[in-house]
Amino acid sequence: MALLSLDSIDLIYQTEKSETEAVSNLSFTVDEGEFIALVGPSGCGKTTLLSMIAGLMKPTRGSVTIDGEPVSPSSGTVGYMLQRDNLFEWRTIEANVLLGLSVQKKLTDESRQYALGMLDKYGLGEFRSAYPQELSGGMRQRAALIRTLAFKPRLLLLDEPFSAVDFQTRMTVCDDVHSIIKNENKTALLVTHDISEAVSMADKVIVLTRRPATVKKIFTLDIDAPTPLKRRESPRFSEWFDRIWKEVSHD
Ligand code: ADP
Ligand code: MG
Repeated sequence: MALLSLDSIDLIYQTEKSETEAVSNLSFTVDEGEFIALVGPSGCGKTTLLSMIAGLMKPTRGSVTIDGEPVSPSSGTVGYMLQRDNLFEWRTIEANVLLGLSVQKKLTDESRQYALGMLDKYGLGEFRSAYPQELSGGMRQRAALIRTLAFKPRLLLLDEPFSAVDFQTRMTVCDDVHSIIKNENKTALLVTHDISEAVSMADKVIVLTRRPATVKKIFTLDIDAPTPLKRRESPRFSEWFDRIWKEVSHD
């Protein structure tokens, strides 16, 4: 059985004056361990889709299930990482990483050790007592990822997580995030409008149409290289980039 299953999803935003159809008859599944990239034009409905997968919003029609169960925001099965890292500047990295656990009353000796262990494992151990502003953009993103993983989510949602990272370091940050996700055997769904980012990171790329979003095409990539940076060097990289770019840019 698929880990995540979206079945014939519609989402219509209702306001007093108007209706906006953001998602229409959209279906796909994600298997355990897969790294999926969702690409589509700005405003097509990607963030809306993630909100439904996180259980923060109910589809107007259709169903979202994880392990066959309808999603709910309190189940803790879905971890959500946003564009900005949302670290609190006045709290240390350690406090930031433990805060969510504590707020949700899930801070135990075991969960604390797990979270702090990941800080050590991924090169942030010596920054435990540092404040976010003392860290580089890439390190902040790593800390934010660890904060999300501290809940041991079954599925990780990433909404354009690198768009706030400066261009020069973006590719290394992609590498870091990718290696943590693979190392921890997480299933991930990455939303991006950057096709090269999608091709460098994902096992599968799902191309969405313009709003209302529906699945236009699914590409299963076969780039045999271990990291996003290495994948960018592969000759297959530009072939996939071109194929997907054509799909995204032609209506
Ligand atoms: P993307 O993340 O792909 O850029 P979004 O999912 O944020 O797109 O938005 C899809 C469409 O739904 C856009 O046209 C947006 O204006 C509209 N939309 C998003 N949120 C709301 C809302 N809360 N109320 C009404 N319309 C919304
Ligand atoms: Mg968005």
